[in-house]
Amino acid sequence: MDLINLKNVEKKYKNGVTAIYDLSISLKKGSFTFVIGGSGSGKSTLIKMLYREEKPTKGQINVGGLNVAKLRNKKVYKLRRKLGIVFQDYRLLPKQTVYENVAFAMEVIGAKKDVIRKKVLRALEEVGLKNKIHNYPDQLSGGEQQRVAIARAIVNDPKLLLCDEPTGNLDPERSMEIMKVLEDINKSRGTTIIMATHDKDIVNRMKKQVITLKDGHLVEFKKKGVYNEIV
Ligand code: ADP
Repeated sequence: MDLINLKNVEKKYKNGVTAIYDLSISLKKGSFTFVIGGSGSGKSTLIKMLYREEKPTKGQINVGGLNVAKLRNKKVYKLRRKLGIVFQDYRLLPKQTVYENVAFAMEVIGAKKDVIRKKVLRALEEVGLKNKIHNYPDQLSGGEQQRVAIARAIVNDPKLLLCDEPTGNLDPERSMEIMKVLEDINKSRGTTIIMATHDKDIVNRMKKQVITLKDGHLVEFKKKGVYNEIV
């Protein structure tokens, strides 16, 4: 079963730049996909269209049965509830503890306190941070902060986890720790993961499927892909 379907998707920004040309791809439930390409190749634009931060100018996008491009603004929450997002710069609340940062994602959807506690602790355990629940973000390393962001992204049990350069600010060792966490989540929860990256080592080590973009065009979509030097 496919979780995601794109058909003839084009994104042209108002300034005339076409960031994605005629892209058609399907991604299965439970798959782990890298989106690679040089700076400006359209990786972020593709991710943004999947969570409806941007709308395509042509084509169709289906995520978990939702017609994303046509979704009314007041229905976007239905899409957002199906997914979690992780950014390069963590985006944690600086004055909230690790626990509070993750719990916040559940409070906003009105979950009960005891359910919140159970799920927050489980998510923090999965990312290996159960011993730091009372710390503040500035008391954590970059890798730890990103793991909090991942816990926050998965705490509501999304079907899809979108990651935009999640290791972009981390050294190779910390980056591999993040990859281990993402791989565990993919395997144990069956969460579909899409990760934009330009980290060659990571892509070559993980042996996942790879979408290669160049100047907005799909150049390759390969199972067990490697970093395509064309980018
Ligand atoms: P990547 O994530 O691979 O670096 P992006 O998707 O950010 O690529 O950008 C693809 C192209 O679209 C680039 O030429 C970029 O300048 C352009 N672009 C991205 N966002 C916008 C925007 N909001 N308005 C206009 N052009 C944009």
